[in-house]
Amino acid sequence: EQTLLRVEGLSTVFETPAGPLTAVDGVDLTVSRGEVVAVVGESGCGKTMLALSILGLVPPPGRIVSGRAVLGDTDVLALPESQRRQVRGKRASMIFQEPMTALNPVLTIGEQVAEPLRVHAGASRRESLAAAEAMLARVGLPDPGRQLGRYPHELSGGQRQRVMIAMALMLRPELLIADEPTTALDVTVQGQILALMLDLARDAGTAILLVTHNLGVVAQTADRVAVMYAGRLVEEAAVDAFFQGPAHPYSRGLLASLPRLDAPGRRLTPVPGMVPSLSALPTGCHFHPRCGQAFAPCADNPPPLFDLPGGGQARCWLHGA
Ligand code: SF4
Repeated sequence: EQTLLRVEGLSTVFETPAGPLTAVDGVDLTVSRGEVVAVVGESGCGKTMLALSILGLVPPPGRIVSGRAVLGDTDVLALPESQRRQVRGKRASMIFQEPMTALNPVLTIGEQVAEPLRVHAGASRRESLAAAEAMLARVGLPDPGRQLGRYPHELSGGQRQRVMIAMALMLRPELLIADEPTTALDVTVQGQILALMLDLARDAGTAILLVTHNLGVVAQTADRVAVMYAGRLVEEAAVDAFFQGPAHPYSRGLLASLPRLDAPGRRLTPVPGMVPSLSALPTGCHFHPRCGQAFAPCADNPPPLFDLPGGGQARCWLHGA
């Protein structure tokens, strides 16, 4: 398979009065063309910051301190901001959790959905509005011609998220980064919108990096899964292998806390303990205070990512040779 995105040694640090906090810690990750890769972990694990870092969108006082994010043959992070904006408009787009913050409240839906075509493909106003109307029909907005003249606040949350998908996929980007794209919506709408996003992306040959805390969503959508904990990638695996037998004790904990269809009402067992604060990370394996299988090396020595026999990798001494 052809690699589309290669993230190498990516680290993002926040300077705070109490000292630097490492939100993303030396992450390596690849996404193939057309592939759906899910990045999972509890809130605060660094998954959103990883997504923002890849496109050079880290908010201050955050700063990327090392690493590359190579899309095709372009290191996005080495580009000046003006060229990076071009990449973000054309080749890679992003969908956020809350579309109200990403949509411009004073521009009509038509203007916003048509904009990428005007700015990046040089289409005329009339052409781009016609294309926007066709795209709004594809994302399932009723009466798309009329929606063109409406403003974001006149739409429901689900409709706004459909508009975001239309904007993000308008130029058939190579990569779509979607950060919890459906979390704010009610459950039935969530499923529809995810399915729609996947369909459209598949049609356009777009690969998806899907950031989510929801393993149900991962099972439904992803080809591969990457698990993050305290800023580090701790497991990476094909989705089937992952659900059959996750290798990292943290991944096992996450899976054990999933509601089971075959055992409704079974009490959930969340991963015991708290996500560590980035300002007081445990030594060695960051997970060791919460790990039921911790042994001699764990508290002092940070484990590297070990290759797993069936493919995939896990950052855990249990898998050390
Ligand atoms: Fe648990 Fe040790 Fe593996 Fe960390 S390295 S997950 S503490 S067994």
